Amino acid sequence: MEDREKDKLEESVSTEHDNDSVQNVDSSVNRETVPGKENHSDSDDDYEKICYVCRRPESKAGTMITMPGGMNFCHDCMQKAFDSVTQSGFDFSKLQNMPYMNMNLNDLPNMDGLNMEIPKKNKVKKKKEEEKQKAEFSIRDIPAPHVIKSRLDEYVIGQEKAKKVISVAVYNHYKRVLLQNGTPKEDGEEKDVLIEKSNILMLGPTGSGKTYLVKTLARLLDVPLAIADATSLTEAGYIGDDIESVVSKLLSAADNDVEKAEHGIIFIDEIDKIAKKKNITNRDVSGESVQQELLKLLEGSQVEVPVGSNQKNALTPMTTVDTNNILFICGGAFPDLEGIIKERLTKSTTMGFMGELRDKYESDPNILSKVTTEDLRAFGMIPEFLGRLPIVVTLQALTKELMVQVLKEPKNAILKQYIKLLELDEVKLVFEDEALEWIAEEALKKETGARALRAIIEEFMLDIMYEIPKDSNIGSVVITRAYLEKSGGPMIEMRG
Ligand code: ADP
Repeated sequence: MEDREKDKLEESVSTEHDNDSVQNVDSSVNRETVPGKENHSDSDDDYEKICYVCRRPESKAGTMITMPGGMNFCHDCMQKAFDSVTQSGFDFSKLQNMPYMNMNLNDLPNMDGLNMEIPKKNKVKKKKEEEKQKAEFSIRDIPAPHVIKSRLDEYVIGQEKAKKVISVAVYNHYKRVLLQNGTPKEDGEEKDVLIEKSNILMLGPTGSGKTYLVKTLARLLDVPLAIADATSLTEAGYIGDDIESVVSKLLSAADNDVEKAEHGIIFIDEIDKIAKKKNITNRDVSGESVQQELLKLLEGSQVEVPVGSNQKNALTPMTTVDTNNILFICGGAFPDLEGIIKERLTKSTTMGFMGELRDKYESDPNILSKVTTEDLRAFGMIPEFLGRLPIVVTLQALTKELMVQVLKEPKNAILKQYIKLLELDEVKLVFEDEALEWIAEEALKKETGARALRAIIEEFMLDIMYEIPKDSNIGSVVITRAYLEKSGGPMIEMRG
């Protein structure tokens, strides 16, 4: 038995084998054969696999990973190889214990059957140099404003002016990004006109679709989005999130891809909550200073942020994100702003008509759209901050008619979702127009805009979704106003 094994070993390791490594192998254990050189008198199953790097047999090193050509690696050596690869690359052929790695296995006798050639379709062709340098965006990739607007129309109801302004602003913003990423001008060549950043200030009552509009926009443009609440932001050193945390959020939304994050959108909600407080004598830490700190982000700066975490500590790796090409959108309800606008408008008119005009403005539902920078300053936003948000858009409070549209028209409208769900049970769900009006009226009473709609619907749809699947004979259900007012039931029709 021993003699036969010795022969086998000699055959398998041949002359170029490092003697030390052979000695390391316990002579009582089985040996691995040279790939392709089978010992025909014995079956391979009778031999233990040996790691090509450390030469330990399977009984000592554990299960082996077998590579094409019959090479085996133990888990420890494989792990070491991976560790080195992630640090600096790894060349197996430089390993002293690996005599076969430099060989072309096809040259070995008896290798014909193995067919080592990897088919071309399984290989990744190397990218040519210019291909690699091609810009990520090209002007043609940015949809024209009317295209952006028409895509927004599929989701966001009403808010025509806001959608138009935002489509143009976003289009210009990404054109500016392109220009900045373009080839630098030679000395003496005329410098391009510097295009200002088109950060946006979005005013509008709660539930009018500010966040929804931004979310839809980011999804359509396929750019990462971070949503932060201005009330949670504090000056560095105070309890709360520091300003950089918004960039950190964007980086994680971009899967830690810095370049992707630098083309993203940051939406800072409740911006009106960081207005400068009036009539205070001591330093205002909560409002004005947060506005001050946001300035540098809005105009573009290099921000050090932790990767893969929003906590800065010694163990988290840091990276630098340039906020110059990040589109900032600040949103807020600005509750007392209407009063400020009305006051300005009435003051600026001729004395005689004051009373008449006051009545006119009092009843104007779109008074917010008449906002000026002075009004926002009077509200408590500092001029430098407003200067960095050159585009101001206002969203209107949703009317009853718009609420009904929100219920049924967007591509992902809540009613469409319920209809689809019951369709899967082969039940037709219909909402009477009067029922939809009732839902809109109830939502208006709550004064939280379209946000209230879902809660109202969910309340009565729970029963429908619970009861209907009980009876497989039900073919259609009509939700009536009477049912919602609790003075009647839904109209149910049986199949057949
Ligand atoms: P806010 O203005 O307070 O940020 P949101 O954008 O969060 O309001 O709106 C809450 C929800 O109401 C959204 O998720 C969306 O489903 C719905 N919604 C609000 N406005 C609209 C709108 N104009 N069109 C379609 N859905 C809307």
